[in-house]
Amino acid sequence: MAEYDFLIVGSGLYGSVFAREAADSGKKVIVIDKRPNIAGNVYTANIEGIHVHKYGAHIFHTNITEVWNYLQRFATFNRFTNSPVANFKGELYSLPFNMYTFNKMWGVITPEEAHAKIKEQRKEIKGEPKNLEEQAISLVGRDIFEKLIKGYTEKQWGRDCKDLPSFIIRRLPVRYTFDNNYFNALYQGIPNGGYTKMVANMLKGIEVRLNEDYLQNKELWDSLAEKVIFTGPIDAYFNFRLGNLEYRSLRFENEILDKPNFQGNAAVNYTDSETPWTRIIEHKWFQFGVDDNGIDIPKTVISKEYSLEWKPGDEPYYPVNDEKNNSLYLNYKELAEKEEKVIFGGRLGEYRYYDMDVVIAAALAKAKEQLN
Ligand code: FAD
Ligand code: UDP
Repeated sequence: MAEYDFLIVGSGLYGSVFAREAADSGKKVIVIDKRPNIAGNVYTANIEGIHVHKYGAHIFHTNITEVWNYLQRFATFNRFTNSPVANFKGELYSLPFNMYTFNKMWGVITPEEAHAKIKEQRKEIKGEPKNLEEQAISLVGRDIFEKLIKGYTEKQWGRDCKDLPSFIIRRLPVRYTFDNNYFNALYQGIPNGGYTKMVANMLKGIEVRLNEDYLQNKELWDSLAEKVIFTGPIDAYFNFRLGNLEYRSLRFENEILDKPNFQGNAAVNYTDSETPWTRIIEHKWFQFGVDDNGIDIPKTVISKEYSLEWKPGDEPYYPVNDEKNNSLYLNYKELAEKEEKVIFGGRLGEYRYYDMDVVIAAALAKAKEQLN
């Protein structure tokens, strides 16, 4: 008999939820992570009393009641509602596209006037939209495409809007009401005290070892456990033997500023093509400008976010789920199915763009399957 029932590689949400469930059903569990900290990409660091989202801004939102209820065991959530502002060469617009945006763009007052304006502008698109540019113009017209979509999207994806699939832009709501809430979700918020604290609560009582790269010492780790849950990149597990899966990467420039308020909002998107960053996050506004004791924070921390082409060795962020990469992933998945002792899960293990709630739901489902 091995020492542990489960070795869990990765202390992100997938690994931590699985670990909690396994430990609660009486299994002996160990979690390892190659980073010096727990929580994977939702890790928040406390800087000047502000919970800084080190791997990109994370706003929890879900329609899955089971997941929302599950998380209440580990955190209380505040009432944060995501409503980014777009800055186009100093002109500010509300997002997602709604009556505030249309009013600022065209001076229209009523939904009928906004409809008429967009109807007029979408006439240039004949037939089904063939790419992101055509899809965007047919949803909101050319003016909004030029000022709020084109520059941002091309910076984010490193490709012309004519060469991008139309579904990317259909993620964004278009509303003929005055509603700046970015998400159509039943539940939304940020865990009070930061995501790291929430994940630490999940891992309470469970053995965790940080700075341990499973792949550097795979045989030893495998000998210690009956089963392995692997939440790292699936291609790395197989030593890239079929080639590299591609990602879009990000770079953050963080600054501590000696002032209480830099931009008055958690997220400001820079939608022109000249500004090199895509957006600036001002982290204190995820918690309404106060620390965990409710006291106003005199300083502020901002992160300029740059989107980058990924190269091997960089931090993988967004899977590029195009045809080429999806089909390579399927070949890796076939290899993965032959690894009887190992279960591949999460954003990197399954090479999928998963929101947090979906990762948690997937981990809960896998735990149910494995622990019965
Ligand atoms: P991860 O958090 O990546 O965890 C994997 C862990 O495995 C890491 O800690 C890694 O260090 C570890 N690991 C990898 N290889 C090894 C190894 N060989 N040995 C040991 N450890 C290893 N979702 C939302 O719902 N709302 C948002 O607003 C949102 N914003 C996002 C913004 C950005 C920029 C990005 C990239 C994602 C965003 N997401 C958001 C998605 C969210 O980050 C993911 O759903 C979630 O973090 C995935 O959890 P995971 O456990 O699968 O992976
Ligand atoms: N988008 C845009 N302008 C904005 C915000 C978003 O054109 O100010 C487009 C962009 O193409 C982006 C897509 O809408 O890729 C989806 O936006 P979302 O915020 O969902 O992207 P995420 O950062 O979550 O991938």
